[in-house]
Amino acid sequence: MIRTRFAPSPTGNLHIGGARTCLFNWLFARANNGKFILRIEDTDKARSKQEYLDEILNSLKWLGFDWDELYFQSKRFALYSDLADKLLKQGKAYEAEDGSGAIILKMPQKIVEIDDLIHGKIQFDTATIKDQVLIKSDKTPTYNFACVVDDADLKISHVIRGDDHISNTPKQIVIYEALGFALPAFAHIPMILSGQGGRLSKRTGATAISEYRNMGFLAEATVNYLSLLGWSPGDNQEIISKEESVKKFSIKDVNHTAAAFNLDKFQWINNYYLKNMDSEKLLDIVLPLFKQKGYIKDDNFDRNWLIDLIKLFKERVNTVCEIADWSGFFFAEDVTFSPEAETKLREKDLTQEFIILRDKFASLDKFDHSSVENVFRQIIEKLNIKSKVLIHPLRAAVTGLLIGPGIFEVIALLGKDKVCKRLDQAIKLLSTAKGE
Ligand code: GLU
Repeated sequence: MIRTRFAPSPTGNLHIGGARTCLFNWLFARANNGKFILRIEDTDKARSKQEYLDEILNSLKWLGFDWDELYFQSKRFALYSDLADKLLKQGKAYEAEDGSGAIILKMPQKIVEIDDLIHGKIQFDTATIKDQVLIKSDKTPTYNFACVVDDADLKISHVIRGDDHISNTPKQIVIYEALGFALPAFAHIPMILSGQGGRLSKRTGATAISEYRNMGFLAEATVNYLSLLGWSPGDNQEIISKEESVKKFSIKDVNHTAAAFNLDKFQWINNYYLKNMDSEKLLDIVLPLFKQKGYIKDDNFDRNWLIDLIKLFKERVNTVCEIADWSGFFFAEDVTFSPEAETKLREKDLTQEFIILRDKFASLDKFDHSSVENVFRQIIEKLNIKSKVLIHPLRAAVTGLLIGPGIFEVIALLGKDKVCKRLDQAIKLLSTAKGE
C-alpha cells in the first residue's frame, strides 16, 4: 500500500515550494491508488499559529488537494515521549548532563546509504554528525524525532520532500534504526529557484499560494504550473489537468536539477485556463472584485450582461484581476481618460464625424455588434476616410483607453445611451479644445 504525506509546519503560509511538494505527494498517492496523509507539524508551540494553519488548509483546499487522513503532531506527544524513554532504557539515548531533562540519541559512527528515487544512491558518514536531541528540555520533540516516529507509525511508504531536507535524512535513518523501524523510500525533489537563479524568496516576488490567488491566478492554472516545476508529462506538453497528471505522473520522471520559477509562463498558463473557463463560473470568481471596486453595489445586476462582459475580456487577460482592472469604463458614469487616450482624442478635430456617428447610433433600433459595425463602416465609406482615422479616437471617446476588446463588441455591450452620451462628451471636449 502506497502511503505518502505532506507535513507542513503552521509557522508560515503555504508557499510555492510546499504546494509543489504537496502536489507530488498527492499525485503519487492518487496515481498508485494509495493514501495521501496530511500531517501538521505543530510541535513548536511558540511559532505555530492558528492563522497559518487556516491559511495552509484554505490554500490546499483551493488547489483541490484532498487528504485521506489528518494528524496533528501536538496531539501525539505521548507517543514521542514513550519511544524516547524506550531508547533511554535501551541505552541508545541519554539524558542531557545539564539537568535540563533533554533526551539525546547517541550517534553511531557508520556509513548510511539511501537509494533516493530521484537522486539515486547517496551515502552519508554519520561520524560528522553530533549526538541528536530527540526531546527538548521543554518536553517537545525535535523535528527529526517526531518526523521519524510519525512516518513509521503512520506507515508512510514514500517520503517525498524538498531536497533541502537531504541533510536531515541520515539523522533520521539513525533514529529509524535505533527504534528498529523499517525505512520508507525517499524521494528528494529539487528546489525551485527564482527566475534570477537564487532561492525563491519574498525578495524575488510573491511566494505564498494565497498571494497568487489574490493576484488573480486560477486554482487549475496554479496546479498545472506547479506540476511543471520539476516534472514534465513529456512531448513538450505544458497544459495538463490534475486528472491527466494523475494518469501520467511517475516519481522517476522528476528532474534531478532545480526548477526555475517563471512568472511569464505561469501567466501564459493562467491565460489559457481563463480563456477556456466557463464564463458563468468565471463571473462568480470576478464578482467579488467588481464589488470591491464598487462597480456593483448590491445583488441587483444583470447577470447575462456581466457574462457577456466576461466573454469580452477573458480571452485577453492573464489574471482574474485584470478583468476587473480593465473593465471599469463599463460601470462608470463618465469616462476617465488615460493620458494617451486624451492625446489621441485631441489629435484631430473629429467633431463632425462624431456627430454623424452619434446620430446614426441613436437611430438604431437594434444596437448589437453587427449593426454597430455596419453603421461605422457605412460612415467611413461615405466620408471616404480610413477606418483607423476614426476607430482609435472612437475607442478613446467611449472607453477612455486605447486598448481593449473589439471596439464594436464593447460599444454594443456599453449600450446606446452610454455610447451616445460619451460621444456627446467627446464632442464637447473637442469644441473646448478649439476655443482654447
Ligand atoms: N515540517 C517539515 C517542513 O515543513 C516537513 C519536512 C518533511 O517533509 O519531512 O519542512
